[in-house]
Amino acid sequence: MSTHDFDLFVIGGGSGGVRASRIAAGYGAKVAVAEEHRLGGTCVIRGCVPKKLMMYASQFGMALEDSKGFGWGVPEASHEWQSLIRAKDIEVARLERVYEELLGKAGVEAIKGRATIVGAHEVRVNDVSFTASHILVATGATPDVPEIPGAELMVTSSDVLAMQHAPERVAIVGGGYIACEFAGIFKGLGSKVWMVHRGLKLLRGFDEQVREHIGSELAANDIQMRLANTIVGVERKHNAYLLFLGSGEILEVDQVMAATGRRPNSGSLGLERVGVHVDARGAIPVDSFSRTSCEHIYAVGDVTNRLNLTPVAIHEGQAFADTVFGGMPRRADHEGIPLAVFSQPQVAAVGLTEEQACAIHGRVRVYSSVFRPMRAALSGRNERVLVKLIAEATTERILGAHIVAPDAAEIIQGIAIALKAGATKADFDATLGVHPSVAEEFVTLRNARYSTSRQS
Ligand code: FAD
Repeated sequence: MSTHDFDLFVIGGGSGGVRASRIAAGYGAKVAVAEEHRLGGTCVIRGCVPKKLMMYASQFGMALEDSKGFGWGVPEASHEWQSLIRAKDIEVARLERVYEELLGKAGVEAIKGRATIVGAHEVRVNDVSFTASHILVATGATPDVPEIPGAELMVTSSDVLAMQHAPERVAIVGGGYIACEFAGIFKGLGSKVWMVHRGLKLLRGFDEQVREHIGSELAANDIQMRLANTIVGVERKHNAYLLFLGSGEILEVDQVMAATGRRPNSGSLGLERVGVHVDARGAIPVDSFSRTSCEHIYAVGDVTNRLNLTPVAIHEGQAFADTVFGGMPRRADHEGIPLAVFSQPQVAAVGLTEEQACAIHGRVRVYSSVFRPMRAALSGRNERVLVKLIAEATTERILGAHIVAPDAAEIIQGIAIALKAGATKADFDATLGVHPSVAEEFVTLRNARYSTSRQS
């Protein structure tokens, strides 16, 4: 029998920590989870959920505009930002309670406060020490702000989700998924939006054709692009801000949002005290069972900086609990994970990009189609959809699928199952389409080109 207070002490009550706690407790372990802020973590409190609710809100304006082409007479519509934030906060608080109840029902002790590791098997919260046979670090990540003069004047995604007023003009610094998503949210809710990004294209790591396509779609939606541009500083000017760009341009806006990446929450945790290695970016390196350099200390989710998504943190937490407390060793599987960017239009992908596929397989077959969705025929909106499949040259096994379209996230989930099952192009061809839909394009792609490499 263990001489410790707990079999497992989890630091961080977000996606990964909560899943690991509940599953471990279900296997009979005595579990505690410490959370310094609010149960649910980034996803529920200041990430996926509030962001998606705001994305929904931002789509109505566009729908109202588009409806005119379908015969609707629409009077001048207005949006109340504060009502949206209030409604969103109520839903987030409801979900937080759901998390509390789930932990309670599972018999997990939830402790409010910041936890630090003070000994090999000892964690301290609010000056109270607890011992545990195993410790799981699931502390997530925090927005990083560029080190420029005036950096303290910038807001991050967490601030935007709590903001009480909509900015009339906003500059978003960054070109990743959070930048693209918030550009759509602000635009849809009536702000004038600039995106300032040091790269030539948005969404680094995505397929190059997709990156080009989403850049031109966002620009067509009247988002002002400042690509291959750096930021030099921010200054306050009365009630507004001046954002100084490397090109010499000065943007006058009401809010500057930094969406320039996230830093793993590994500082001041006491990791060095017990010999847990941390890399140069602050991430905790782990093996495929999520074990750190210290035998009984594990880490899951964003703090390990593997693939920073909620379903991944949950999967890693589950695999950890199955391995350590369920007697079923399971490695975290990071293959074939579908990704979605809730920009407008959305971007979604699973598997390899054309560039990765060429690098691994040498020569691949690429099927792609760019077309005007049916809805645009009457709405008059200047939009184009991209659908793309990449297949192994000889077996025609599908290596990657990519889509830029409204509801792309909903479409890619089914395609991801097909890829996980090893589907070939022939399987796609043998499947009848749902007509008329954007998704049917995936089963009607006919013309292929061979690709050995693409210029980025
Ligand atoms: P978290 O959920 O961040 O949980 C970590 C918890 O640990 C936090 O609650 C924190 O308060 C707590 N903590 C930290 N240090 C301590 C300490 N010392 N003591 C006690 N508690 C501590 N992912 C998706 O899959 N889809 C999306 O659409 C999506 N959208 C996003 C939008 C935004 C704006 C952001 C910021 C992220 C988004 N993500 C999305 C990413 C997703 O939220 C994270 O990958 C996920 O929440 C990671 O889970 P985690 O358990 O690792 O960490």
